[in-house]
Amino acid sequence: MKTVATRILRATQAGETIFISIDDLASDDLDDHYRRDRSIPLTITEERVDIPFIDSEIHMWTSLSEYGETLAPHLHFNCPRCNRVHCTDLEDGDPNPRFAVCDSCLWESLVWLNWDENVAQKLKSEQGVAPQSATRSESDFGGGGTPQPESKPRPR
Ligand SMILES: [Zn+2]
Ligand SMILES: [Zn+2]
Repeated sequence: MKTVATRILRATQAGETIFISIDDLASDDLDDHYRRDRSIPLTITEERVDIPFIDSEIHMWTSLSEYGETLAPHLHFNCPRCNRVHCTDLEDGDPNPRFAVCDSCLWESLVWLNWDENVAQKLKSEQGVAPQSATRSESDFGGGGTPQPESKPRPR
């Protein structure tokens, strides 16, 4: 498997990883969601790790939230560690490849997600077209596996 040597910053608390970032990380950046116990000091260390570079599939997904209906691109990928298909949000300006974490393995499985820019452009140009259904199920993708939440805290 192709890997990319990557510098990461790992935040640990009581020996447990609570966050990993490829960008500079200050302990102030880690909100209460990550910092489990403010009384335990948080340590940030720098490492160099080989991260799998994998191909992902881009598709559009319609979600309903308090902000209404949103059509957003997603990346689907097969985690090389647990071998499950996962879904992660793709936001405007995200670099290709994009750093991501497996929903199941969390910090145990870091990935660089690569996707087809031609497909991305094509999907973008079709955005004016109404989606076939308001809330499409994701379960038809990938032929099974555990449904994953469509949004999650994402690494910076
Ligand atoms: Zn998706
Ligand atoms: Zn995994």
